[in-house]
Amino acid sequence: MLYCADCGKKLWYHTNTVNTEIHFFSCSNYKKDTRGTCPSRHYIRADAVEQVVMLELKKLSAFLKEDEDAFIDLLTEKSNRDVIFETQRLQRVIRRATERCETIVQLHEKLYEDNANGKVSDDWYMEQAHRYEVERMELKARIAAAQEELKRQETMQVGRDNYVGAIRKFMEMQTLTPVLLRELIDRIDVYETEGVGKHRTQRIVIHYRFIDTFSLPEDRAKETYVADTRQGVAVEYLPIPVPAQAPAPLPA
Ligand SMILES: [Zn+2]
Repeated sequence: MLYCADCGKKLWYHTNTVNTEIHFFSCSNYKKDTRGTCPSRHYIRADAVEQVVMLELKKLSAFLKEDEDAFIDLLTEKSNRDVIFETQRLQRVIRRATERCETIVQLHEKLYEDNANGKVSDDWYMEQAHRYEVERMELKARIAAAQEELKRQETMQVGRDNYVGAIRKFMEMQTLTPVLLRELIDRIDVYETEGVGKHRTQRIVIHYRFIDTFSLPEDRAKETYVADTRQGVAVEYLPIPVPAQAPAPLPA
């Protein structure tokens, strides 16, 4: 469930050939390792990911245990806000793409008439008509993807209870099984390490099932996992979502 935050491809699991006790993940699309297109390796040790996930889940279960009402409130507020925002965005995407589709149909009709009247050459007509058709297909795919995503948003609202249930299960077990991991986490995005020496940081964004990313209140989020990989080299893992940015266009 680990993904490269920069190229979106999966991270692959490896074992260090010299020290076989070290297991790590790296981008399956890294250009130097795989002749892919990703500019950097996105190396992360398996034990570090595990520690970060455990720490985050412990923080979540501590929060749930100590102040269940506040936890549920925050979750509800968060998921409602996300769902409303995302639903509106998707509706906008669908509306714009539909309008553009209608425009293309009109442009195509006009082009057809112009060609029939001898105003534009056959070559030009063919070329332009092809372009319109390609764009129309892209828009149709975009609309379909957005509609699919809209459906998923609807299920997010009911997923909150399942999520709390899974956290509770973790609270009781205090250990992670592959099944529980799947119940709790959808995917984890791993960023490239930043900084040097003792000031290295690596962002790891956990996308939980049903609720996606979730930020704890500041006082509960403070503690982070720091791995001393070698003497003088440490990596602090930042399990914080990337600051909000303009919504990325949906893949066509
Ligand atoms: Zn990558």
